[in-house]
Amino acid sequence: MALLEVKDLHVYYGKIHALKGVSLELGKDQIVTLIGANGAGKSTTLKAISGILGASEGQITYDGEPLRDLAAHHIVGKGIVQVPEGRRIFSRLTVAENLKIGAFLLSDKKWIADAEERVLELFPRIRQRLKQIAGTLSGGEQQMLAIARGLMSNPRVLLLDEPSMGLAPILVQQIFDTIVGIRKSGIAVLLVEQNAFLALQIADYGYVIETGAISLKGTGADLLDNPQVKEAYLG
Ligand code: ATP
Repeated sequence: MALLEVKDLHVYYGKIHALKGVSLELGKDQIVTLIGANGAGKSTTLKAISGILGASEGQITYDGEPLRDLAAHHIVGKGIVQVPEGRRIFSRLTVAENLKIGAFLLSDKKWIADAEERVLELFPRIRQRLKQIAGTLSGGEQQMLAIARGLMSNPRVLLLDEPSMGLAPILVQQIFDTIVGIRKSGIAVLLVEQNAFLALQIADYGYVIETGAISLKGTGADLLDNPQVKEAYLG
């Protein structure tokens, strides 16, 4: 059974029918990617799963339990955390303070310290910069911090929205290496990416979304080989 299952999900922004029956599955310890053009509905799918947006129809099931219509903070409490597009770190706070905010659901100081230690294992550069004001980090470091902050609440599922956006190629590769490390640590990742080539290379499974509906799906390797995917997304 999939850890997270989305079935026939419909989402509207007023009269705009943004998701028209999206279905996808994320297995335990998997990286699954959702690729597609601008405006196809990738962010909307993540926001509906994390409870930021309401869905009008369809089901979201997590570990066998219905998730749709739960408040966003309850969904975080169940172990699903979204790292939004565009980083959104608290730029005037220090790196360490940003991490503590990510642990807002943990009350015990020891748990927070343990979470921080576990997260910093994955992000050695962030460890060196704990006292630095977050707004002075480089773009790549800010993205690392946003992901690290998301991991502070011990999620089982991480929803990543365009983590490579705006980064230099060398940093993009580091971010993708980190995502593989996150999966190795036992966290499933649903990855939304414009960089379809890199995303499909690390993904166990992938979905292509076009104007609010899934048009293709397959293993990362299959989609990399698919002529339609090559033409539209790997050009
Ligand atoms: P991008 O890669 O450009 O971020 P995306 O695949 O993540 O694209 P979404 O942001 O999910 O796309 O948008 C899906 C559709 O919903 C688009 O047509 C978009 O214009 C529309 N949409 C998104 N947010 C809103 C909003 N707040 N109000 C109205 N329409 C919206």
